[in-house]
Amino acid sequence: MKTYLVTGGCGFIGANFIHYMFEKYGDSIRIINLDKLTYAGNPENLRDIEYLRNYVFVKGDICDKHLVNDLFQQYEIYYVVHFAAESHVDRSIESADEFVRSNVLGTLTLIDAAKRAWEAGETYREGVKYLQVSTDEVYGSLGETGYFTEVTPLDPHSPYSASKASADLMVKSYIDTHRFPANITRCSNNYGPYQYPEKLIPLLITNCLEKKPLPVYGDGMNIRDWLYVEDHCRAIDMVLHNAPSGEIYNIGGHNEKTNIDIVKLVIGYLHDTYDSGIDESLITYVTDRKGHDRRYAIDADKIGHDLGWEPETMFAEGIVKTIRWYLDNRKWLDDLKNTNI
Ligand code: NAD
Repeated sequence: MKTYLVTGGCGFIGANFIHYMFEKYGDSIRIINLDKLTYAGNPENLRDIEYLRNYVFVKGDICDKHLVNDLFQQYEIYYVVHFAAESHVDRSIESADEFVRSNVLGTLTLIDAAKRAWEAGETYREGVKYLQVSTDEVYGSLGETGYFTEVTPLDPHSPYSASKASADLMVKSYIDTHRFPANITRCSNNYGPYQYPEKLIPLLITNCLEKKPLPVYGDGMNIRDWLYVEDHCRAIDMVLHNAPSGEIYNIGGHNEKTNIDIVKLVIGYLHDTYDSGIDESLITYVTDRKGHDRRYAIDADKIGHDLGWEPETMFAEGIVKTIRWYLDNRKWLDDLKNTNI
């Protein structure tokens, strides 16, 4: 039984990843989930698997060196999948300290502990791997044409993306200096179940259900590439197990949409299937986000070519599954609304 250390497993993508891994590998893996349970971490996301004897939850901070080193001592960890991060751009614009602490120093703490635990003479224990879950936002913003490739220079604009780029560079430095066995993945915007409703799609759904205004930044024409979260989880699994160490992979959905397109799509679906009182009069244009990147678009040819990955869930299907999930999980949403937001 191989042991995985997953950080930030109570957040959106981490929770989806843990579900994905147990569904795929069952009893043949053990997962240690290290999560500080910030406002974005929700134990409810994993309530259905917490009874598993091969699942261990550890409440703690990735910046806590003693705790992280102890985990490597206590368990024979083979894989680290590092999701834990402060992840909301707007919050990073308000205050960047926690982004540098968790995203940069937290990453350093993890790679340092993994390196020490895995060192075996001049090399590393056979089969171990660290995976840094990063974002397309580290590349900055595109004009109307072109795509981010893995060799696009890093040009982050927000404190969030700057902290993620810094963390990537720390990982790269360990790969280059110490031949640390690691990969970095850079994914576009994810959507799906368990996403904290400060992010665009669940925010739109919750506000529609409460007939609250739907805030749209600037002219609403900022473009993002959207990927169904399960496709991201599958890509991470493939990179972890099949990619040569040291490689970086972009992951994207070939699915560019303007923000206003997304807003209208969510309204349209809820109007037609849930409540005809939900309509475009809820749209409220608000002052643009400071330094708002105009367009992100991913060239995911490398992961397709090297590992055979491609997105499986088309947006038309994924967005309906996602909206239905939030409709079917009103208690999950309401509990969050009552505690945190
Ligand atoms: P999220 O905000 O939903 O979850 C983050 C999780 O990390 C939470 O459970 C939180 O409690 C935990 N955490 C935060 N700081 C911690 C610390 N110091 N110690 C331990 N746990 C801590 O984030 P998400 O959307 O699931 O994103 C996961 C990762 O994927 C992040 O690294 C993010 O940069 C990256 N990413 C996200 C997207 C996206 O669209 N959401 C796209 C590309 C990459």
